[in-house]
Amino acid sequence: MEFEPVIGLEVHAQLTTDTKIFCGCSTLFGGFPNTHTCPVCLGMPGMLPVLNKKVVEYTIRMGLATNCKIEHESRFARKNYFYPDLPKGYQISQYELPIAQFGHIDIEVGDSNKRIGITRIHMEEDAGKLSHDPDRPISFVDFNRTGVPLMEIVSEPDIRSPEEAGSYLRQLRSIVRYLGICDGNMEEGSFRCDANVSIRPIGAETFGTRTELKNLNSFKHVEKALHYEINRQKEVIFEGGKVVQETRLWDSVSNRTTSMRGKEEAHDYRYFPDPDLLPLVIDEDWIESVRETLPELPNEKKERFVTEYGLPLYDANILTSNLATANYFEDCLKIFPESKTVSNWIMGSLMGLLNAEGKTIEQSPISSQDLANLLGLIKEGIISGKIAKVVFEEMAKTGKAPDKIVKEKGLVQVTDVSAIEEIILNVLADNAKEVADYRNGKTRLLGFFVGQVMKKTKGKANPKIVNEVLKEKLKNEYI
Ligand code: ADP
Ligand code: MG
Ligand code: ZN
Repeated sequence: MEFEPVIGLEVHAQLTTDTKIFCGCSTLFGGFPNTHTCPVCLGMPGMLPVLNKKVVEYTIRMGLATNCKIEHESRFARKNYFYPDLPKGYQISQYELPIAQFGHIDIEVGDSNKRIGITRIHMEEDAGKLSHDPDRPISFVDFNRTGVPLMEIVSEPDIRSPEEAGSYLRQLRSIVRYLGICDGNMEEGSFRCDANVSIRPIGAETFGTRTELKNLNSFKHVEKALHYEINRQKEVIFEGGKVVQETRLWDSVSNRTTSMRGKEEAHDYRYFPDPDLLPLVIDEDWIESVRETLPELPNEKKERFVTEYGLPLYDANILTSNLATANYFEDCLKIFPESKTVSNWIMGSLMGLLNAEGKTIEQSPISSQDLANLLGLIKEGIISGKIAKVVFEEMAKTGKAPDKIVKEKGLVQVTDVSAIEEIILNVLADNAKEVADYRNGKTRLLGFFVGQVMKKTKGKANPKIVNEVLKEKLKNEYI
């Protein structure tokens, strides 16, 4: 029997507001433990939460960007559990009435698009951070993170492979970054994902029992953990067993998932509406005013890059994968309006350089203006494409402008036909045997002659002129 996986993802995105969701404490990462705290986020008795308006606005942005219905009335609920990272003994979250639901996003799967449903988006507060002493039976708790705003985005179980899961996550991360509401850093935990997965016989109508995978802190881990878990579930079933509904932890050292605990049910949390917070009422005007501030989203930008600039979809995809790259590309075009040439240089030389140095495009040593000006120098025939690579390397090293490097290093292309002719005549005289061979039909040798000329000019001769003059001279028996 053939099985197919069914996957649904829960993503927690940390919102980049300055202050926490229910108090005025700073959300800055890395402060001395327990310094970004107050009686509200420490859960002192009698303290009352006050909702941060920015958190609501950011979540409306996300809801609109993912085609959700924004609810005019939603509610906060208490999710009760006992653990030392949770000073109040409950987490304020949303349960029955989330702020946004019934949405979808389109992701790319191979050559086509697939629509993945968004079940709901809700707001909640983060818990504190525990650390454990390796030598003594002591744990430490830091409440700086307690009350930092999170947005939870729950997908429908529409995902059918680990690769689709990766594509969905990348698309979602790209959206939150375009919206400027979350930095999307999985390794640092500001964009976290739990993956729910089950398998079922192909063609079956009902879903199998799911397990929930945690501790997935990179895209690669999400895909690897899902592959592992799908195979594990298949083996359980082939051996006549049953998949148990449980939470499993991914171990990136042994590349396995291991059982952490039986899956808790919603009723275990004793959810109830938080009596300290009024129902959240959002009117149409607010929703519309947020809609007006939405930027062009990744998919829209991608489509525009194809239609407006005539780029292949492949290029458009890479260039719009983050906003900074898309802006860099469009800034280049303002100076040098040949889209495919600019795209090739960004995707090739520039991204190669940034990858090698572990830098983002914001940290690029070469500005968009300088790259565009470099391409201008090639176009005007001042340098050849080959010399441009040399200039590019130098720009990367020194941050100098391309025309300055060309001048300083004497790299201006030789386009003077008589100068090139002279060099060619020398090369032909020095290689009489090859000349004879060429004339006897070994025309492949043209490349050899071009190479010799380029060597003598240190690559600075205009290749087009070299080729033309060479062919001319080689044709003529009486030079
Ligand atoms: P819980 O808090 O119990 O994990 P949520 O509603 O927050 O519940 O999340 C459930 C997630 O699991 C959703 O992303 C949903 O698409 C997914 N899911 C539900 N049933 C299945 C299933 N049988 N197989 C795989 N994923 C599932
Ligand atoms: Mg869950
Ligand atoms: Zn506080």
